[in-house]
Amino acid sequence: MRTRLGICRRKARYSNEEEALRVAEKAPFPLRPYRCELCRQFHLTSRTKGMRLPRFEIERRQAK
Ligand SMILES: [Zn+2]
Repeated sequence: MRTRLGICRRKARYSNEEEALRVAEKAPFPLRPYRCELCRQFHLTSRTKGMRLPRFEIERRQAK
């Protein structure tokens, strides 16, 4: 995913995907971690189209 510089600066950064996923798991809406091409760290996006499903969401769906 392309990230514009303004978005990168404004967003929270996570040094690894695990950390980003932990935050995504607690959020009240779907979030997906993705690697930013600018800072090489992870951000979260609410645009979930085409993103792979995080493990905790797969587990949630299976639990129902
Ligand atoms: Zn970034």
